[in-house]
Amino acid sequence: MRGAGDLAATLDRIDGRGYKAYRDIEGAWSFTDFDLHVDRVQSDPFASPSKMRVRVDLGIVDLPGDALANRIRRIAAASWLARAFRNAVEADRPPRSGTGKGGLILVDAGGPEVLERTAVVFGETFVEARVEIGLPAAGRRILGQKAQALLIDFLPRILARAWIDRDEETSADLRRFIDCIENQETVRRALRERDLIAFIGDGAILPRESGASERPLPADRTRPFESPDAFRVEFEVPHADAGAPGRIWRGMGIPRGVVLLVGGGYHGKSTLLRALERAVVAHIPGDGRETVVSDPGLVKIRAEDGRAITGVDIHGFIDHLPLRPGESRRRDTRRFSTSDASGSTSQAANISEAIEAGATGFLLDEDTSATNFMVRDTRIKALIHPRDEPITPFRDRVRELFEEFGLSTILVMGGTGDFFDVADAVVEMKAYRAIDATERAREIAGRYPIVSEHDRRPALAPFLDRRPDPGSFDARRGRRDVKFSSRDLEEIVYGTTPIDLRGVEQLFDPSQTRAIAASMYLAATRFMGPDRPLSRILDELERFFDEEGLDALDPFHRPDRHPGNLARPRRFEIAAAINRMRTLRLLETP
Ligand code: ADP
Ligand code: MG
Repeated sequence: MRGAGDLAATLDRIDGRGYKAYRDIEGAWSFTDFDLHVDRVQSDPFASPSKMRVRVDLGIVDLPGDALANRIRRIAAASWLARAFRNAVEADRPPRSGTGKGGLILVDAGGPEVLERTAVVFGETFVEARVEIGLPAAGRRILGQKAQALLIDFLPRILARAWIDRDEETSADLRRFIDCIENQETVRRALRERDLIAFIGDGAILPRESGASERPLPADRTRPFESPDAFRVEFEVPHADAGAPGRIWRGMGIPRGVVLLVGGGYHGKSTLLRALERAVVAHIPGDGRETVVSDPGLVKIRAEDGRAITGVDIHGFIDHLPLRPGESRRRDTRRFSTSDASGSTSQAANISEAIEAGATGFLLDEDTSATNFMVRDTRIKALIHPRDEPITPFRDRVRELFEEFGLSTILVMGGTGDFFDVADAVVEMKAYRAIDATERAREIAGRYPIVSEHDRRPALAPFLDRRPDPGSFDARRGRRDVKFSSRDLEEIVYGTTPIDLRGVEQLFDPSQTRAIAASMYLAATRFMGPDRPLSRILDELERFFDEEGLDALDPFHRPDRHPGNLARPRRFEIAAAINRMRTLRLLETP
């Protein structure tokens, strides 16, 4: 392998030449402590930065003995290393040089969620950072000296600082980070046997700095979470002082079943629910939510009017739609399609699709729900005959969903008491403090009974499966046979079909969105077919992630190359993207 000296000589040689000559540095270069693999040089100074990998022997990085002991710890260790790399770049920022992206060094370390990602991975004997580096130019002419400063001086310094020359304190931080993530996963896995769907640790900081930030609100302006006696539980975690003092995590256990979060406006209900939404994955120490853990199968359900729905079984919530001019038969809501859903039909479809994808429960907030989907009060029942109301409100199904299908619900509802009768537990948020209100709500429900209903709807039947038609996933764009792209969290363009993900609230990272686009292509080309219901396709994708890893997701990926910046999505968000694709077609049921 050529050495750092050869790289310097090459950069000297191409100094001042056209940008394309940077191609000459593609390939592997051996440095004292690491190998630098230049996989793809950007085409010009303004294009996305060049893709490189920095590979270091595990012996040199010298991680704590048990850092890589299991899958969770490996993901956590990779996450810490990616963050350390990013922090070192930020602390010792190289001067941006020349035109375009020159001098930029990026590693896709992510936000407060700890996700499996491609940014840092472990091999048998090495650990590798996948980075993007902007090669410097003046106009379109190569700045060879600047490139040397960047690759030969700066990069080794960053790496030494981030990964190699760790002092005691930094090593302790690394260990605590990994331990804290493993503690969270231990609690997550223990939830089910304790009949819980979520846990919020005492002392957790739930509110965020702003609606546009995932950083915690400063401590002096925050009321830390405190569990009410009636809901207090304890978990013993494997590692002391990682997330909470000692080895006992104490906090509020949210039981399976139907749980209401009530309280006055602005008292902290939605903040609590949002923390639970995001606690389906682990959080970094210092985030404030590192002791908040929820069941990984919880899915946020909201109204999303305007979305497309393709052949979804929503009959349990919506049936007997009015006839439209020219229609002789009512539309079958066991196979409901529309290109422009209403608030209630979209919310019904979101529930059915979550069930189809294997959800264990739902998270709903009155702020983002359609009122007519949630409740139907006595007076409106008196005015509008049940025969003329296609909607069976969620209130009338929520117990059935739990008792017949095992699906729990956590529901924020400050505006109506109609759910009191159907709740197993009621938590009141009062000035950001959680209080047990179960007994009071029950007593009130007895005092003001809901007038009995004449409109007994048929029981919920199992929801019908759907088989996506791989032919409806057209990845062609212009002259290219396969092209998909994404923008931030919110949009995928698959071929030429835009997919709007703004209503999908449990996507945490743009790299997950990218991975979803690639997953759709993989699924359409490998896993879809006449005998493949969507749930099975999602199983196959998860197996692919487990066995092949995320590196292999990009259809153009070649082994031992920078795989692009990807983070693992949940099956629910992959399904959500497929379900929102307006060109989706289903195979006929045999
Ligand atoms: P609700 O849904 O009950 O109307 P929110 O959850 O939207 O209330 O919270 C209202 C405001 O209070 C938000 O700005 C939020 O950041 C803040 N907040 C929530 N929880 C706390 C807390 N524990 N300490 C301080 N501020 C909080
Ligand atoms: Mg709210």
